[in-house]
Amino acid sequence: MKETIIIDKVILKKGHTASRLSAIIIIDGIQKEMFFEVDQTYGKYFCETRADCFVVALLPQAAMDGQDIVSRIPVSERLLFQLNFFLCVVLARVYQKKKIKVSAPADDRIIENSGAVGTGLTCGVDSLYTVASYTKTAYRNHNLTHLCLLNVGSHHIGRIDPEEMGRFRLDHTKRFCDNNSFAFVHINSNVHDFSPNYTRYFTLLNAAAVMSLLRLFSLYYHSSGVSIENFHVTAVDLAHFEVFVLKMVSMGNLKFFSAGTEVSRLEKVRILTTYPESYYYLNVCNLYPENCGKCIKCLRTLYALDIFNALDKYSKVFDLTDYQKNHDRYMGECFARAFFARDQFCREIWPLLKKKYRVSMWARISEVIRFIRSRFKIYSLSHILYRLRD
Ligand SMILES: [Zn+2]
Repeated sequence: MKETIIIDKVILKKGHTASRLSAIIIIDGIQKEMFFEVDQTYGKYFCETRADCFVVALLPQAAMDGQDIVSRIPVSERLLFQLNFFLCVVLARVYQKKKIKVSAPADDRIIENSGAVGTGLTCGVDSLYTVASYTKTAYRNHNLTHLCLLNVGSHHIGRIDPEEMGRFRLDHTKRFCDNNSFAFVHINSNVHDFSPNYTRYFTLLNAAAVMSLLRLFSLYYHSSGVSIENFHVTAVDLAHFEVFVLKMVSMGNLKFFSAGTEVSRLEKVRILTTYPESYYYLNVCNLYPENCGKCIKCLRTLYALDIFNALDKYSKVFDLTDYQKNHDRYMGECFARAFFARDQFCREIWPLLKKKYRVSMWARISEVIRFIRSRFKIYSLSHILYRLRD
């Protein structure tokens, strides 16, 4: 049986340039440090009297492993209640493990914050849509004030050095904030060292990073990549039911919204084509710092821009030559992904592309063969069958 994870201490260190909120965590008898770090100007917004952010960061992997969590530092009562009575119960069913328990001294005092309204910005379709939608609403207290770059694992899933990816995103996001009068918050962390399955539960890792600044944020829009039509409870990733997950970590003075669930990805792209900042900043590639124009994330975006006759508007952020030169082949790839990859976006967009272009049978067949071969190179047959069953 796995040993209980213990959050032993929470320590705040204020330096000349950066401030760090750390927890000493004991896992399998070994002491480790988990931290969140920000520029020193934001250090005063850390809250070292609560372990909320560390509990949430540890929770998904602990639930996957069936490990209880004990914190010797107080945790907000509302959060403890929601985790133990709702989220841990659901995660136990999802991961088919025992229901884990989170134990800590409960603190029911509300932590005051400065009322900041934030979202994460990578300049992808989802996050730019969030910025375009929630900057100038009619509801003053809900308008975005702070844009964040959260280093909790997303820099580590590309094909290049995570540090290089991190540097590129830092520069890109900061430039967007400077040019559009938003405050910029960079939260650096090592939570991904404790959480080897980033893509399966990044919603909670992002929420944990935001919760480290309990004295700053009152609202946080978490940009969702999954529209509400595709809501379902699955072990593949929490993103499919993050409306529920985020509700379970909203508490006291900090509320999370799953932003963008109300529309499809195609509709988000349509809205972005009317948001001129996106012509200079849209950055969707997961593999490389600049848009490669060939990976599935780049292609999905190009397909959508193609449908809206907006490719030329994005010539500063995409090299369109390859897409235009091999157009028939890329259409074939959309067909293959729509029917053989259970790719919701390609399913949505394929009928529109088919209506607009005559796609050769040769392109369809050769892309289906190429696609099936590529899957067998990456995944085992059992994994493919598991994903198809989901
Ligand atoms: Zn790409």
